[in-house]
Amino acid sequence: MNAQQAIHEYHRIRIHRAMDAFRRRGFEATYFGNSAEAVEHFFSEVTSHNIIGYGGSDTVSQLGIRRRLAEGDFHFLDRSKFDHSYDGQLDIRRETLSADVFVTSSNAVSIDGALINIDGDGNRIAGLSLGPKRVYLFLGRNKLTENVDRAMIRARNVASPMLAIQLGLDTPCAKTGQCHDCAVPDRICNNFSIIERCNPPGRIRLLFINEDLGL
Ligand code: SF4
Repeated sequence: MNAQQAIHEYHRIRIHRAMDAFRRRGFEATYFGNSAEAVEHFFSEVTSHNIIGYGGSDTVSQLGIRRRLAEGDFHFLDRSKFDHSYDGQLDIRRETLSADVFVTSSNAVSIDGALINIDGDGNRIAGLSLGPKRVYLFLGRNKLTENVDRAMIRARNVASPMLAIQLGLDTPCAKTGQCHDCAVPDRICNNFSIIERCNPPGRIRLLFINEDLGL
C-alpha cells in the first residue's frame, strides 16, 4: 500500500466510526469513496417533482450540484434568481423551509455522532433542524473531528475564518485565521447548532465522501 492508499484507508476507517455513531442516533449515513458517486446517488433520489432548497455550502457548489440543479429539470429554489435585496433573500430562505429536499453541508462533524454548524442569519441551521422533509449533507473527510469540542474549534477557527476571507468580510478572524469572539457588523457566526440525534429518524441523510471538500 502506498502513502495515498494509506491516507485513504485511514479516512475510510474514521468515516465508518462516525457512520456507526450517527446511525445509532437515527441518521442515515452512506459512504462514498469519491464525490462523483455521492453526487450520482443524490440525483438518483430526487425528481423533477421535488421542491429543492439549498443551504449555502462550498462543498455543494464545488461538486457542481448547485449548477446541475439550476440548469436541469428541477424545481430548484435558486437564490441567484431571486431579488438580491436582503428582504428578497429572506423570502427565498423562508420558502426553502417548506421544500421537499434540502441540500447542504456541515461546518464540522464529530465522530461520536454530532453535526456542528455556525450560521450568519440562521437559514441553514433552521433547514437542518425543521422544515424540509429530507435533508442531504455532503460531508468531506476533512470535516471530521474527534468530539464536539474539537468540532466547535474547527467551526470557529477553520471554517469561519476561511469563509470570512472568501467573502471579503471585515472580521478579526479574516485577518488572523482564528476566532476572537468578535462583535463587528460583519460577524458571520451568529447562530450555533449542535444536532445530536435525527428526529424523525432517517430525515437527515449523511453522504460521507473520502475526499477533502469545502471549507
Ligand atoms: S466571532 Fe468573529 S472572529 Fe470569531 S469566527 Fe465569528 S466572525 Fe470570526
